Amino acid sequence: MRGDLSGRRAVVTGASSGIGAATARALAAAGATVVGGARRVERVRDLGKVAALELDVTNPASCEAFVEAAREHLGGFDVLVNAAGLGLGREPFDASSEVDERTVLETNVNGLIRLTRLCLPHLADGAHIVNLGSVAGRQAYPNGALYVTSKFAVRGFTYALREDLLGRPIRITTVDPGLVETEFSLVRFRGDSAKAQAVYEGLTPMRPDDIAECVLFALTRPPHVNVDEIVVKALAQSSGARIHRDSA
Ligand code: NAP
Repeated sequence: MRGDLSGRRAVVTGASSGIGAATARALAAAGATVVGGARRVERVRDLGKVAALELDVTNPASCEAFVEAAREHLGGFDVLVNAAGLGLGREPFDASSEVDERTVLETNVNGLIRLTRLCLPHLADGAHIVNLGSVAGRQAYPNGALYVTSKFAVRGFTYALREDLLGRPIRITTVDPGLVETEFSLVRFRGDSAKAQAVYEGLTPMRPDDIAECVLFALTRPPHVNVDEIVVKALAQSSGARIHRDSA
């Protein structure tokens, strides 16, 4: 049955919140056996049908231990969803710092690349890699240089990986969302909930489940079909920079 992931073994990073959590839940509901990773492992445990393992994608030793434990649990992998990621700040690049640069690029770029490299030897024939990019990885917007850079890199890596995997039975997809209401903005504004909430005011943002459905769509196409990219935005958003807000 299309949409049925019974017997599939999935690894989802960033499974403690937002898009990763919704995806891990959706995959489990579709019948997959799912391992979810994040630093806040107790929140992954709270998802219920998802095996929770601690993971810090910025830490090579943590990634190695995570992949080894996931392999012991699942035997091998049919699905890898790289959803762990973050943005920090909405200021002009002049306000950037060494710490922010390292954190954003280590998490969104190096972390995703590292996890993919470590999982690759354990991917079964017919496996599928899904990377969470962003509309920020397709078109720049002001005051988001580090995040924009990181998501352009995710798209570049995905394109390059597709070239290197050509001829192998492994599919690869990027899902590039616009505004999704998650904890993303709370993290980006360093815990300032008023600023975070303002991001979603005056429009109907997408929900994490909307993105999980896109992931599921890509995963459940017939094996000869590779959905390269899904770009999905809130109706009220035409680009990263342009959002129509209802005035109160
Ligand atoms: P979120 O609710 O803040 O979730 C981010 C997830 O990433 C959390 O599970 C977090 O887990 C994990 N994470 C962050 N740093 C990590 C690290 N060092 N090691 C392991 N896990 C880490 O945000 P979200 O919106 O769901 O974001 C998920 C992905 O979608 C990101 O790649 C983001 O760039 C992308 N995206 C989001 C939007 C949006 O509007 N929300 C739009 C386009 C793309 P822990 O903190 O527990 O480790």
